[in-house]
Amino acid sequence: MIIQLANRIEEKDKSIINDFLKKAGFVSTEVVTQFQTYLVCIGKNNIDIRSVGNLTGVKDVHVVSDSYKLVSKKWKTDYTKIELGNEIVIGGKQPVIMAGPCSVESEQQIEKIAMHLYKNNVKIMRGGVFKPRSSPYAFRGLGIDGLKMMYGICKPLGIKIITEVMQESQLEAMMPYVDVFQVGARNSQNFNLLDALGQIDKPVLIKRGISGTIEELLHSAEYVFCKGNEKLILCERGIRTFETAYRNTFDINAIQVLKDKSHLPVIADPSHGVGVRSYVSKLALSSLVSGADGVIFEVHEKPEEALSDGQQTLNFAESTELIDKIHVLNSVLI
Ligand code: PEP
Ligand code: MN
Repeated sequence: MIIQLANRIEEKDKSIINDFLKKAGFVSTEVVTQFQTYLVCIGKNNIDIRSVGNLTGVKDVHVVSDSYKLVSKKWKTDYTKIELGNEIVIGGKQPVIMAGPCSVESEQQIEKIAMHLYKNNVKIMRGGVFKPRSSPYAFRGLGIDGLKMMYGICKPLGIKIITEVMQESQLEAMMPYVDVFQVGARNSQNFNLLDALGQIDKPVLIKRGISGTIEELLHSAEYVFCKGNEKLILCERGIRTFETAYRNTFDINAIQVLKDKSHLPVIADPSHGVGVRSYVSKLALSSLVSGADGVIFEVHEKPEEALSDGQQTLNFAESTELIDKIHVLNSVLI
């Protein structure tokens, strides 16, 4: 059960509600976000929710049978919209496009890609500076200096930045330069990181774990929400299966399931989802048809020279073609 509390609830009314819940056999957790205060109540007993709804200070009360609560669509039927400024809305009518290199490599590389995005009216650039790599000898990113350089190029063009944070200690230094924090697949269940992201007021995109279930992804989002940050985005990026013909199995089913189970926006990442350049564009389009609120894909001037994930990265011509097709598709879907 989720109880939404009135904005200016008095402490004595809160105590009355908490006593009532305790007597009814519920353990309640108070969640204060940037928008509202909630009581998330866990208990086995059945209760007539009208008896809670009548208490002073209760704005609304909802029965949520899912094990994740605040991210569930059972209590919030309107889908969440996240505004980034500059008329960019994630989860709005228009699907969003986020694109950029796997890794930030150099000033020249970022300038070229930023201009490519600018010309194609793409307003969110991706690019990792802290790179989780399977091998410790692979390129691990330029770190905070790379992020500052990316910001210096993107800011004057009005392009927003999404980049991965790998650990809590990086957050403070990254904060001024990041518009959306990405939690990578390998960190999808790093609960300390999720706790820390719950305490900031910036959007967080959480990728599905490499072998993560849909329910685990929703629980990861719940971790962030219940620490106070409602600005959450879910991302399907493929999972590991027995199939070896491509890098990951892009679970297009997950898009519809997530939209059915949660009110949060869903972004599809076909680049990591399939891991093969020639398949990325069609899967990007398919995911929009399947209900994704947007796509994130990798693009580089010379993918064959990219320091990471070149095999799944589009070149500028392929990227432009995909963006044009996304616009045509949007006009049909809206
Ligand atoms: C990335 O976005 O470059 C990345 C490492 O993604 P994932 O965490 O999905 O592997
Ligand atoms: Mn990558």
